[in-house]
Amino acid sequence: MKDHELKKAYLHITRILNRQHDKDRGIDLTGRFIKSRFGVEVLFYDFKGDQNQAVVRKVSGSHQQRKTPLPIERPIKDYRKILYLKGKEEIDPYFGDSRRMFSISQAYTIPIISRSDFKHLLMVYITGSEEISNAARDFGRFAARELVAFLTRIQRSNHFYQAMLFRVNYLENILSYQNNQADMGQIMRKMVRDIPKAIAMKKCTIALLDKKKEYLLPYYSNFLEPEAGVKYPMDKSLVTDHTGILALEKKEPIIVYDARTDPRCDRELAEELNIYSNVTVPILNLQGNPLGVMYVDNEQYEIFTKEQIRFLKIIGGHIGLILSNLNYIDRLQSEVQRDGLTGLYNKESFLTLYQEYFEGREKSSPAFSLMMLDIDNFKGINDTCGHILGDRFIKAFGEAMKKSVRDKDLVGRYGGEEFMILLKDTDRGAAQHIGERIRRNIEEILIEGVSTTISIGLAVFPGDGDSGKALLETADRHLYRAKKEGKNRIAVRAY
Ligand code: GH3
Ligand code: MG
Ligand code: MG
Repeated sequence: MKDHELKKAYLHITRILNRQHDKDRGIDLTGRFIKSRFGVEVLFYDFKGDQNQAVVRKVSGSHQQRKTPLPIERPIKDYRKILYLKGKEEIDPYFGDSRRMFSISQAYTIPIISRSDFKHLLMVYITGSEEISNAARDFGRFAARELVAFLTRIQRSNHFYQAMLFRVNYLENILSYQNNQADMGQIMRKMVRDIPKAIAMKKCTIALLDKKKEYLLPYYSNFLEPEAGVKYPMDKSLVTDHTGILALEKKEPIIVYDARTDPRCDRELAEELNIYSNVTVPILNLQGNPLGVMYVDNEQYEIFTKEQIRFLKIIGGHIGLILSNLNYIDRLQSEVQRDGLTGLYNKESFLTLYQEYFEGREKSSPAFSLMMLDIDNFKGINDTCGHILGDRFIKAFGEAMKKSVRDKDLVGRYGGEEFMILLKDTDRGAAQHIGERIRRNIEEILIEGVSTTISIGLAVFPGDGDSGKALLETADRHLYRAKKEGKNRIAVRAY
């Protein structure tokens, strides 16, 4: 082969490998090129761990390629040098099985060592009686060197893609939440669990502003037990840690390298929580108004990469979006669920919430009570005072009921002048007591000199029915009885 042809060959192999992104294909192309230019055969050895075994690949001129696991005769380190072996006697101590399999009569092997990692071997061999030419051996060494660079590059880009894939997976994990469920607590707890993992950090806490935007409340955390009553004032003169306030002022992440010496941080708190470097990300709503912050912390000194900060900013933006959405859904739902006149639950939403409560109960849960209420002689009021006054009675009675029960109880307007009340965790005795209170409160209501009364039917679980529907029927039956027995009273199961 002439000099300039040789030069071209060298250039060619470099170019081929620079363009390749696939390990097997790069190796195959290199081998095929050597074979076609220098008239020799080429094997590529992939050592398997520390065992004396290698996967041997014969690079053929055709597209077919064979991969054969073969034992190798010596410890791998013995192949970590260039070997030029001629004849059975020299070859067999190193490559006995290979020689028999491929009829090797002369072999020239070059180790491929990348970053002191020795995992591959390139072999140029012939089956006939001639010599492996100088040019072929030189080129083999050159190709092996090029393969080192190639394999290192492939490995590095694999790492890069793996890391990227890892982050994308986490991102997907973080961003996917059941919209229909829309349980904020569940979504946020998932976030604080997954966010630090995605960027190789340790701790994550999401703190939200209270309604008046006076305090930051650390609601969700992957390491803090949410303590009741812990809140950080949004006033720099009242707290030592200013990172949350600053993040919301600047609307940018605040980066701290050492929370124990940084003047913006609370040294004692940092020590107590075992926090060192951290990032505080603002959480804003769609209009850019503050909702809260996300703290992501490490337990040691850490330099943050641009990618980590960018990732956190994106996630912070997304949390703002989720919160805005949930808020919106919440408002929509509360508008839909309420009755226009009284502001109480309408029949449909009352039944839904009642059913949810019934199904969510455990066997060991305490008793609960259900009341059905109907205004007495309401037709008369309508007839003598008109519907407008009638409506005022309905509204006032609804308010009186709401005031007579706890916040967690449900009060609904069931129909025209009929109401329902679910008293959670309330047994028969207590329910009768509350019913009596409601009855009395309503009796006292006077609108333009007019008053009327209410009748109540009570059903208690367990005892008065074993399904949600059965209890409703019992309450209705007892209401009917209360009317029949003279109205302005509460009727319970007769013993
Ligand atoms: P009772 O003691 O048996 O309950 O007698 P009542 O007159 O209240 O009879 P009933 O409950 O059967 O009738 C309810 C009446 O209430 C019928 C209707 O004229 C009136 N009503 C129903 N819905 C409304 C409403 O939204 N506003 C007003 N003003 N009146 C209503
Ligand atoms: Mg009625
Ligand atoms: Mg009535």
